[in-house]
Amino acid sequence: MRAAIIDGPGRLRLAQAPVPAPRDGEALIRVEACGICHSDLHAIDGDWTPPPAYPLIPGHEVVGRVVAVGGDASPSLIGRRVGVAWHGGACGRCAWCRTGFETLCPEVEMTGYTRNGGFADYLTARADFVALLPDEGDPVALAPVLCAGVTTYRGLNRAGVGAGDWVAVSGVGGLGHMAVQYARARGARVIAIDPSPERRALATQLGAEEAVSPDDPAGRDRITALTDGGPRAVLVTAPVASAFERAIELVRPGGVVVFIGLPGGDADGIRLSVSALSNWEKSVVGSNVGSRPDLRAAVDLALAGAVTAHVTPVSFDDLPQALEALRRGRVSGRWVLDMRGRGA
Ligand SMILES: [Zn+2]
Ligand SMILES: [Zn+2]
Repeated sequence: MRAAIIDGPGRLRLAQAPVPAPRDGEALIRVEACGICHSDLHAIDGDWTPPPAYPLIPGHEVVGRVVAVGGDASPSLIGRRVGVAWHGGACGRCAWCRTGFETLCPEVEMTGYTRNGGFADYLTARADFVALLPDEGDPVALAPVLCAGVTTYRGLNRAGVGAGDWVAVSGVGGLGHMAVQYARARGARVIAIDPSPERRALATQLGAEEAVSPDDPAGRDRITALTDGGPRAVLVTAPVASAFERAIELVRPGGVVVFIGLPGGDADGIRLSVSALSNWEKSVVGSNVGSRPDLRAAVDLALAGAVTAHVTPVSFDDLPQALEALRRGRVSGRWVLDMRGRGA
């Protein structure tokens, strides 16, 4: 099969590899589409702690069809279209698994990071962690829900965003453009923050009522006036330290900043004023992808038409160039690897 294999930090190559065999409880999935996420760059660069074990096939926004199952996995899955997300396994028994925090399980498995992902013709996944999807529909359009969608859906939950609340989405890339729509779907009012005029225009098209550049000195005042004191929540999806610092300044007193994007490496630290938090009772919460119930809810909203990813298909041979474009911030919406057609 075709596979994008990382041999070591910064060393990605397109190659032929054997089709993996599903182990007990796993499904073998023929990949139709796999979104290209900023986290894949970190898997390639090895700049997160801990770095992944190489060789590794990245990719964690997978839509495909089950072609075989191993051991005690249900044969009824064979032929079904499924989604595979970053959250690829957990023990099911620990204190976190039992309280809605299964992504924090000490035995957590991460697709495209601790196990091989979807930048290939086939991957295996734990059968009890795949999301069932309908047969019809464009897999390229659906793929971004599996990471960008579920991640921002949970982020809004972590902030307790409800109808009528103002939410600022900082960074309108792959995650942010989904966040705008998931926030709108729950009746929130949205402001988008992004340096790119093209991405700001996309945010407006998707329902943001205001879109400002972080470099605009008047931007913060405009947001504060529009929201009568600042947004109730700020979701930071931009993987840039300054965006996290600005979000804490911007959020209204008593509001919540949700950290979602991950800068990685030397950029993975911010300057934080203690009094800015304590005097104004602001909260900062982290949000880490999503649990299986989050994924189901995010997928169902997309299937109901409340959320539509803005996608650009990428052929397997063009994957390295697409990753480079993402690294340079030149991607609007989500670019998605389309594995249908040639190869296998
Ligand atoms: Zn991702
Ligand atoms: Zn657990």
